[in-house]
Amino acid sequence: RLPVLVGAVVLPHQPRQAIAFVLDNSARKELEQRKDTFLSMASHELRNPLAALKLQTSLLHRQLARQGTLEQAPALSSMETQINTLIRLVEDLLDVSKIQAGKLGYRQERVDLDALLHEVADTMQQIKATHTIVVRGATSCSLVGDKDRLGQVFTNLLSNAIKYSPQAETVEVEMDTAEDVVSVRVRDHGLGIPREQCEKIFERFYRVTSPRQKGIAGLGMGLYIVAKIVKHHKGTITVDSEVGKGSTFTVAFPKRRAV
Ligand code: ADP
Repeated sequence: RLPVLVGAVVLPHQPRQAIAFVLDNSARKELEQRKDTFLSMASHELRNPLAALKLQTSLLHRQLARQGTLEQAPALSSMETQINTLIRLVEDLLDVSKIQAGKLGYRQERVDLDALLHEVADTMQQIKATHTIVVRGATSCSLVGDKDRLGQVFTNLLSNAIKYSPQAETVEVEMDTAEDVVSVRVRDHGLGIPREQCEKIFERFYRVTSPRQKGIAGLGMGLYIVAKIVKHHKGTITVDSEVGKGSTFTVAFPKRRAV
């Protein structure tokens, strides 16, 4: 098999190694592609039955509420929570697939960043009563971009801030407006991230390996998606963190004229 390929690759010093590299690389690429296709198909296949489950449980919820017997079905709200978690996971998987295929779509609209931050913080506060979310400095500021995707950025950062702060109850969101840039910091006082892993957390499927984070569920997709959305909006995302003290994620966007 090799002689045929040797003729095709011109690397005078170490032809055999060069061939081995080419073979290895194309096999890896094919495997990557198959994995991406699988992820995309699996997430599409999971979406419909989950949507059906969500609809049926909410119908049941309404029916029991009408009959006045909702209190007798405590398992129902737990089921709804679990279904919502699964739907979010599948949506993240779909987003990752779309990013890989360059097909993540963005709307262009006027986004009031201050209002969006309050909206996201309020929604998160309702879901996570265990922590107190404090919003500071959110003064009027508009961007041009995709409101839902930008909301996804802050929802993700807040959700992580809460998830990785099992012992610390306060999470802060601070907005700062300068002449050309608007920045938002999401700060927690939780587990923190080892310095050498701070850059890697924005990679696809990367999760911090530390005994402190053992048992906290996740698949390492959130920050990868967040970083791509921020990049699309010509922004930057950085993290400053200390193990045992907490983490601050800073997202900065260039200010542009509102549409
Ligand atoms: P997930 O939380 O599902 O694992 P993410 O992509 O959102 O995936 O985060 C990647 C990793 O970065 C997490 O697994 C966690 O180890 C680390 N991380 C993210 N946010 C925080 C935070 N606020 N505090 C500590 N670690 C964090």
